[in-house]
Amino acid sequence: MRDGFEEVVAEPARPKLTYPFEAGPRTGEAIDVAPGVKWLRMPLGGSLAFINVWAIEDAGGWAIVDTGMGGPDTRQAWRAAFEGPLAGRTVSRVFVTHMHPDHIGMAGWMTRKFDCRLWISRLEFLMCRSLAADTGREAPADALSFYRAAGWDEEALEHYRARFGGFGRALHALPDSFQRLSDGDGVRIGAHVWKVVVGSGHSPEHACLWCPELKVLISGDQVLPKISSNVSVFPTEPEGDPLTDWITSLARIKGQVPDEVLVLPAHNDPFFGLHARIDHLIGGHERGLARLRALLAEPKRAVDVFGVLFRRKIDENLLGMATGESLAHLNCLMARGQAVRHRDENGVDWYRAGA
Ligand SMILES: [Zn+2]
Repeated sequence: MRDGFEEVVAEPARPKLTYPFEAGPRTGEAIDVAPGVKWLRMPLGGSLAFINVWAIEDAGGWAIVDTGMGGPDTRQAWRAAFEGPLAGRTVSRVFVTHMHPDHIGMAGWMTRKFDCRLWISRLEFLMCRSLAADTGREAPADALSFYRAAGWDEEALEHYRARFGGFGRALHALPDSFQRLSDGDGVRIGAHVWKVVVGSGHSPEHACLWCPELKVLISGDQVLPKISSNVSVFPTEPEGDPLTDWITSLARIKGQVPDEVLVLPAHNDPFFGLHARIDHLIGGHERGLARLRALLAEPKRAVDVFGVLFRRKIDENLLGMATGESLAHLNCLMARGQAVRHRDENGVDWYRAGA
């Protein structure tokens, strides 16, 4: 599962954000980004290359925030960190912003290794358990008809069948219990209180951690400086409207968290410019919705609209994410009363502008 599309061309130009650190930490190293807050990186395959994770000085050891993709490369990187910059203290607890494998992958390994608790929102925990339970199953009929309705051909459906059920392979088994994070909670970690700020749309109940005293926001995938996070409709909830959730929750975060914070994102580098970045992300989706609505003057399938939403060629590896994100835009237009859908005799959905 990918976290989103790297922005290739920004239109209008991406706002100028400030990056206070010249370079990120190498594997096994850490950089202090705020008093008692360390920045580490865990390796990822693919175009994103790494994920940022954070270690916060806690009363009984390190509170770790996000854990990296499950697997030997990440385990090796954590071992190097525990023998290097994190040496001498145990892990007190493990926070996870959301259930994607690059964030939660090592959480079960770490909570067992240090006999500590996983702190996560309830929906992220349950959704992760639910998806992990699909591991090894055959692709369900609901999912195949969902992608057929989006316009996939037999070859694409076969590719999906062949790859289905891999989610759980990218993570260590989760613990059987957790400590719930809820929007608005204040959690004391060491010397400071961190507020839980929940967003939705990229994942169901994504927890950001904001420390007003330190003026720091750990934003996970909710606000990334150079990537537009993936917002997708999935076969489990075909009528979902995650794009409205996404736009609404970004606006809420802008209203709640001051612009002055240092943003610690899961990908790319820490930056200043939270409000401008949120405005640009929301604006990008609104402009995409407007282009989509204009395109729907003629009826289109989900697979016919990639050109107005993505400025890159969609190959078979990107097809699932592009389809999910196109459906998110189409469902959002329908929720706004600006598009309608009609299913043809082959089970394929056609969308056109209008009410
Ligand atoms: Zn994610």
